Amino acid sequence: MIISVVIKNRIKGKEELDYFSPSWIPIGCRVKVMLNQVSLIGFVVKCREDETLPFKLNPILEILDEKPVLSPLFLDLFSYLQSITCDTKFDILQQCLPLDKKLNEKQLTPTTIKHYKRTDLKVHHSRAYKELNEFQPDQIIPNGVYSKAQLRNYEKKGYITSFETLDVPQITPTLDLPSLNLQQQAIVDAIDVERHDVHVIKGPTGSGKTHVFMACAHKVLSQKKRVLMCVPEISLTPQMIERFQVFFDCLVIEYHSYLTPKEKMNALALIRSTPACIVIATRSGLFIDESFGLIIIDEEHDQSFYQSTPMVYHAHDVATFIAQKTNIPLILASATLSLETYAKALKGVYQLHVLTQRFEASMPSLTIVDMREDIKQHQSYMISSPLIQAIKKRLHKKEQVLILINRRGAFPTLTCQSCLTSARCPDCGLHLNFHQDTQKMHCHYCSKVYEQYACVQCGHTHFTGSGYGTQSVVSRLKQLFPLASIERLDSDIDSLSESQRLLKAFTIGKIDILVGTSLVSKGLDIENVTCVGILEADQALSFLNLRSSESTFAMLMQAAGRSGRASKQGEVIVQVMDPHHRVIECLKEHDYDRFFKEEMKFRHLTQLPPYQYLISIEISHAHANVAYEGALTLASQLKETMHVIGPSQLLKQRGLTRYQLIIKTKDWLASMQNLKDLKITEHPKWDVKVIANPFALGGL
Ligand code: ADP
Ligand code: ZN
Repeated sequence: MIISVVIKNRIKGKEELDYFSPSWIPIGCRVKVMLNQVSLIGFVVKCREDETLPFKLNPILEILDEKPVLSPLFLDLFSYLQSITCDTKFDILQQCLPLDKKLNEKQLTPTTIKHYKRTDLKVHHSRAYKELNEFQPDQIIPNGVYSKAQLRNYEKKGYITSFETLDVPQITPTLDLPSLNLQQQAIVDAIDVERHDVHVIKGPTGSGKTHVFMACAHKVLSQKKRVLMCVPEISLTPQMIERFQVFFDCLVIEYHSYLTPKEKMNALALIRSTPACIVIATRSGLFIDESFGLIIIDEEHDQSFYQSTPMVYHAHDVATFIAQKTNIPLILASATLSLETYAKALKGVYQLHVLTQRFEASMPSLTIVDMREDIKQHQSYMISSPLIQAIKKRLHKKEQVLILINRRGAFPTLTCQSCLTSARCPDCGLHLNFHQDTQKMHCHYCSKVYEQYACVQCGHTHFTGSGYGTQSVVSRLKQLFPLASIERLDSDIDSLSESQRLLKAFTIGKIDILVGTSLVSKGLDIENVTCVGILEADQALSFLNLRSSESTFAMLMQAAGRSGRASKQGEVIVQVMDPHHRVIECLKEHDYDRFFKEEMKFRHLTQLPPYQYLISIEISHAHANVAYEGALTLASQLKETMHVIGPSQLLKQRGLTRYQLIIKTKDWLASMQNLKDLKITEHPKWDVKVIANPFALGGL
């Protein structure tokens, strides 16, 4: 038999190799093979007769599984992903394989707890033994009755036996699901959990979408099926878990990349052993190879549902594939749906459901502050007087304030005090940021931290900082409001437990003002937050990237949506440089529909998605001239059959020079096939990364 095996191989395009086996091996099993004198774990993708062996093949050394480690569904997903990406089979496979069956990784097992139970063997002598007789056969011995040594001794004598179980958390629901309002109920009724459809739920922030998910989850759980809910931000999973745990008497399990491999394995073992449970996960949850009865993608417009390394995929594509194949509903929900999703819903490809207003609360009032006026009058360029007044008023009423500034650190620009050259990361070419807490310069692109930095022009080591980020905003607020408790939450806080502690403290009112990046704009549901201030709200609009309007609008709407979610009237103060930008005008009216219409007009005019699709091709090499040669060669090759824009140069990444080509196409699947046929990622000289339907262009 010739067995085709996928393995990790550094030679491009050679990650599927043939081996010999005397007997048939099922597709989907793992095997041990040799490659260049090294033993590797591979994955069987084909098995065929060997009548015309062209040359002598190496043998399969060992078969590691009796049956396939991927279900038929995930084997299909593996082929589907091969058709929509240009990534290597190995990377795609690693993404699809279950955690405990990956190739070349340590094998994981879940944590178990040991229990003892009584056997029916009678005990005759001694007092302690008499006690044992009081237990019925098969009765579990409660913890703490006997010492470990005693238990071991009794087990040896055959009076008790031991068995292991998973560590299952306690379930204590405290509330019944609330009754829904008419609009919520109509949506729940319209979602048939017995069949596949893509349902789109559009509703402003605070309109009760989460309660619609809960009611749908309830229907699915009562059929003894699992529910998967994907959320964008890792720091929000515990909050969402808590919200669900209050209402459900089943396990609510979190699954995301911040869990250690062992914790992930424990979560996976719990999911596998529980037919009806709720899994709250980030995008990687879609690769849990267990059957679900419903998949929900909350905040479906969010960038975190796009993955670009090591394998490119969009959570929508994976979720749609799984939902279709398993005939289950998929819910996509947001207050600011992605243009693609809403356009499909309006066309009738997806079923559209709408919640029109906040649940028993009104939208917050919104004030746009033109910062050019403040700057002209030499007022603060950071925190405007209307915002200072608003914060003062809210603190006085013992209400809470959220300040959003989408930039970490203290100073985003550093200028040499001797020659005025700005400090840039040598690897990326991007401006370096000064961080107050570390007193060091940080590159926000490649995450490099500079212990020492000398000006590239004159070698001077003193720099002047300008602009501001979360850290300098906190310092300024502390000067303005010395009695308030003020904290910062951004991705520099890299421990999940610390960000959890901050969110918890904010939730229970221990923090008066929380300053954060877009991280804090999503999902928070805190009744006492009545004022949201957004600094440099239109800053990202100057980037002119594919989705900069769309993602800025979504971020601002989300941030504004954190204010006044319950009975207290909320307000939002938005500081901008251009109050007449269409994104800001739409935000002022909380008007998603107007934004959608205007942005679609723009996309139509420029023939950008969803009118035409884009494929980004990135060519990189350590030597600038090789990268350039690659870009030109590829551009002229592709221009024969495709609409190619570029090459354009990108920022360096990890010292590599990068160029980008963009393909515009009406049929992205056909174009991807074309690119695969040309084997453009297998060039021996330069590296090529292909991303279909990228979130942004330019890799930023
Ligand atoms: P969204 O997910 O659309 O932002 P949520 O589901 O978080 O909105 O709802 C906003 C607020 O309204 C929450 O505090 C939630 O508890 C409350 N709420 C929503 N629907 C109901 C309901 N049917 N009964 C009681 N409270 C509700
Ligand atoms: Zn850098």
